[in-house]
Parts: sequence; structure tokens; C-alpha cells
Amino acid sequence: MKIAQRIHIYPFLEDEAFGRLLAFLEEYRDCFDELTITTDYHHHGAIPLSELRPQAEILARRIRTLKEHGFRSVGFSVHSTFGHIDEGHEYYGQPFHPMMSPAGELAKGCFCPQHADMRAFILEKYRMYAQCRPDFMWVDDDVKYFLNGIQCACFCPECIKRFNRKMSTDYTRETLTAAMNEPNAVELRNAWVGDISDRITELFAEIGETVRAVDAQIRLGFQTQHQGWSTYNGMDFAAWFPALGGCMARPGEGTYDDKTPANLINKAFACARQAAEYPASVTDVQYEVEDFPNYSLLQKSVRFNLDECTLAIAQGMNGVLLNTLSPDPVMIGKDLGPLYQAMSVARKAWDRMECFARGMHGVGFYPAISSQYDRRRPLHDGESFFIATYDARRPQHDVRNTYGLSHVGIPLTLEAGSAFGAVFTGDLADGFTDEQLLDFLKNSVILDAKAVRAFARRGLEKYIGVRCSEKEYTDSIEEYFTDHPVNADAVGFKRNVHPAFFGSSAVILEPVCEGVVSIGDLCGLHGEHYGMTASLFENELGGRVCVLGYAGYHKIDSYPCLVRMQRVAEWLAKGKIHTRFYAPHLMPQFVRTDGTRTMATLVNLSLDPAEGVEYGVCGAKQATLLYRGEEIPLVARQRDGFGVFELPQMMALETVTLLVE
Ligand SMILES: [Zn+2]
Repeated sequence: MKIAQRIHIYPFLEDEAFGRLLAFLEEYRDCFDELTITTDYHHHGAIPLSELRPQAEILARRIRTLKEHGFRSVGFSVHSTFGHIDEGHEYYGQPFHPMMSPAGELAKGCFCPQHADMRAFILEKYRMYAQCRPDFMWVDDDVKYFLNGIQCACFCPECIKRFNRKMSTDYTRETLTAAMNEPNAVELRNAWVGDISDRITELFAEIGETVRAVDAQIRLGFQTQHQGWSTYNGMDFAAWFPALGGCMARPGEGTYDDKTPANLINKAFACARQAAEYPASVTDVQYEVEDFPNYSLLQKSVRFNLDECTLAIAQGMNGVLLNTLSPDPVMIGKDLGPLYQAMSVARKAWDRMECFARGMHGVGFYPAISSQYDRRRPLHDGESFFIATYDARRPQHDVRNTYGLSHVGIPLTLEAGSAFGAVFTGDLADGFTDEQLLDFLKNSVILDAKAVRAFARRGLEKYIGVRCSEKEYTDSIEEYFTDHPVNADAVGFKRNVHPAFFGSSAVILEPVCEGVVSIGDLCGLHGEHYGMTASLFENELGGRVCVLGYAGYHKIDSYPCLVRMQRVAEWLAKGKIHTRFYAPHLMPQFVRTDGTRTMATLVNLSLDPAEGVEYGVCGAKQATLLYRGEEIPLVARQRDGFGVFELPQMMALETVTLLVE
């Protein structure tokens, strides 16, 4: 595996600071396979070349010096292409046409690359950095058309003109955006999103050409964004990377501190999802650990930093990009020693994991969101198209709702092709074709109530077995765990997650086929049964379906829910379940296999230590345990076809990895 270190520009500019940086890099040389100089620290899209060029000349010298010191791979992340957000505009102003929102609002620090002067500026900037002879250059993650200071871009006159030319239409910004907000204008929105994707493809082709004209050996990469943020870009990795000639990718998601431990899991999945969709030409995938903006262990602990790297490797990524160093030269070498000492120890295990897992695929259930979502979805309930899908006000678009299943030990994988089945929430089924949805239904699916409605709109109710009541219950309701084997030990348990406090809701499920069974009934506060609210069903395609109509994936971190979901998962997997817990633990598992060998990484998401965890791997006899820098041989106890391993103590947020051959 590769460890790349991102280093902001400031320590390079003065000799004295650079000397201290060099000493720091020498001290922890094991942690630096690659050095990535970020060309600026501010997020404005048009910092003038008159400021950047003298800096680039210094950086060219620094690259030569670093290579003389034996650092073999040194390159750039070109920090701004369009501009990231509205930052720096009071200083740098607006020298180019700003990006424009559907309503005509202008971004302050992000500029439209369709204008000839901005385009020339962008290409000249890439040419200038290429002339510094870096080994590689990244296009940073500001190449996107959402959240550029405005929600959705770019509707400037140049972009409207381009679209009209392509489509033989004569829209104005006002008529185009009104037409796009018609609920069923899927074709028009698809054409617009497709055009945005083409704008990126064309720009990437020009950037690639510009860089290669200077030096064809420079490797190129792009720092992508999560499909769960938005698919408004078109998310066409298969076109973008070849256009750029890019072999490097950095999947993105923001997790900047450790104050909400579960964000560790959200980011792991968000990045693995992008990695799973990169074309085969991308061979160097670098998960970015981002400790922006304080770059302090007070902001994000050593433990959390290490976990991020471990979970990236656990999901098949083959590198990490550490964005852990303060941009301020004053801080070089001052407070991050414990982090780099720990990394030096941990990298042996990461190398072992990365080598071991080559050729393996993910195991588990696939939390479904299509990269085509914004190209295919109709609009519901009067919503506007022009708002990023990743928005707390719009939970119906948020795939992260489903990630809580992993907290209670259900294995999730972002590799749809090898999954046991799929997990749906909200309107996300709208992003898939009928054929794709039927493929999911032939296998197995888990749905919340809104997802049932989304499948019903597509005429697929009979494969789910139930329809939802019109009424959504939000007050004084409980879920009663029925007398069904998946509820063993918890029959009669009344689950009350108090929607009045915490949001969410419940529905009654009405069977539309024979064979639907209840695993949960909706009850009033005096025990009156209103009807079924959670169901299991095997459909005519042979697929198995679980519907969770009471607060779906919301607050399922309780013993009865955990035990029920683990049994449901085993039923849905039709005997293919690969790994198993034997007692309740708050412990996401990340599992990969090639059919013969298995790698399983577990993280203790509880803040209490986990003691004596028993973990089963199908068919396993022995394993190597990677634990606290050691490799420990373990022998399994055999039980029902599973080899059961007793794991050592795991402190809060500690990981272990089992290599099973
Ligand atoms: Zn524009």
C-alpha cells in the first residue's frame, strides 16, 4: 500500500521552514511513500498567476531537493480549478465570470470554466505546474457543479447558450430551470446533467493534453466526490478518468474530527462506494485522511486517524493520502509525533492487509444509490431539483440512513455485484432502471417504508409482498415483536423510538400476496394492534424481502433490533452468510473474500471495551490476527460450519483484522 502525505504550500516558501519540514520527513520516512504538495491553501478559484508563478518556481526547486533526499514520488495537488467555495473573494475579487445558480445568484469565489478567459487561465495554471516537473498532478475536488458557493451550477449565459446549441432549443435561464422543475421532466434533466458531465469530460481532456504536452510522464489523478452528496454532476467516472488520462483517484467525503465516532463508518462507506465505481484504468486509489482545518490531535485523535486508514485498506483501497499536517510552518514537527510513530507501527499491518486482499471482493449487503440518480429521478411533493441531495432537510435522498445497519453487525459492501442483496431507503430506487430493480428483487432486499412507496410507484409491489398505509403514524406508537423465529428471546418486546422526540414515522403494511409474514406489528400505547409494520416475504422470483415499516433504520442500536436484524440478514443471504457474531456488539465488520481466503476487519464502535468477542468465519480453521502491531496465530473452534475465533480485548474505536486462509 502507498502512504502519500499532503503538504500545504507555506512550509516550502522559506528556506528555514523547508529545512524543518525536511527534517520531519526524514524522521518519519517510513510514512512517506509519496509527497503531495498542495499548491495553495485558500479556496478561491482565481488566485492570480502573478502570485502563483513565483511560488511555482520555488516549488520546482523544492521538488528537486526532495528527490535528492531520496523521496521518489513528489507531485502536486493543484488546489483550485474552478474554486471550492466562497472564500478569498474579498481579497482576490472576481476576475472571471462567476458560476451562476438556477435563480441567477452568483458565486463569489468559483468561476465558470466555459468562458474563454477562465479556460485559458485554468490551462495556463496546469501548464505552469507541469513545468515544475512533478511526478504526478491531482485535479482537486472543486471540479463539481454543486455547492460552489451556490447549490447548483452553472446557469450563466455561456452555459445556457451551450446547452441550447447542443439541444437545438432556445431556453432562457428562467424557462430552462422552470422546465427542469416539472416533476416528470426526467429527459430534460438527464440531458442537462449529461451536459454537465460532458463539460467536465471536455475540460479534463484539455487538462490532460496540456500536462502531457509538457511532460507525458506526469501521472494524473482526480479527487472525486461522494455519490451521496449529489449525482448532479453525472458522476461519469468511466468518461472522466480516460479523458484526463488519470490513473489516480481520491474518493472524497468530509470527516474532519472524531466528535461523532459513527462518522468513521459513514466516510469509510462513502469512499468505498466511489472506489467501487472507478474504471479499471484507475490503479492508485488514495483514501484521504482530512484533519482540516486545525490539523491537531485535539481535533482528531491518533486512534481515529489510524482507523480511517485501516478501514480504507479493509475495503480494498490501496493507499491513503494524509492531509494531517498544519499548513502553518510554526507547527512543523511540534505535536504530531504520536500520530506518525503510531503510523510507522501500523503500516506493517496495512501492507499485509493490502497484499492479502488483492483480488478479493466485498461481502455483505449493498446500500443502494445509483450514480445516475439525478439523471433518472422524478420530483415528488413539489420539491425543487436544484438542491444538493445531501441535505438534512431531505432524508428521502440520504443513503447514509442505511449505514446504521452496519453498527449492529450487518456486513455492508459497496460492491453491488458481489453483494448478498441491497438495502433501500427513501426515494433512492428512483435512480435505478426497472431491470436493475428486478435484479435486486431476484436476490434480496431490505426496505424502509418510503422505499416501499418508491418500488410501488414502479409497479413492483407484488415482489415486495406489501403496500404501505396512506397514513404515516408519528404519535404514540410502538412496534410489537411478533412470535417469529427471528425475534426469538425478544418476542413481545415493544420497541418505542418516540418519533415525537426524534422524528421518523411508521406505517401499516398491507399484504398484497400470499406468504407475507409479520415480524413486527404496529401497536397503540394500550397494546391495541393496528396491523403489520415489519414483514418478511419470498417473492415469485426467488428473492427474499424484509420491510421495516416502523422507523426503518432509525435507532436500531438496541439488543432486540440487533439480534433480529442479524437473523433477518442470515435469512436474506440464503445460507451464504460468511461471518457471524454470537453475542450483541456495536461492531461494524468489513469483510472481503476471494472464495477461499477471507479478510475481516472489525471496529469497536462502542466507547466501552469489547471483551471476549466471538466471531465466526464460514469454514475457517485458523487465522492470523493483526492486533496492536503484532501478528498472532489463532485456531478456530468449530461450530455449525463456522470457525469461531475469540478476539482479544478491543478498546473504544480499536480495530482488529483476521486473515483467514
Ligand atoms: Zn457557466
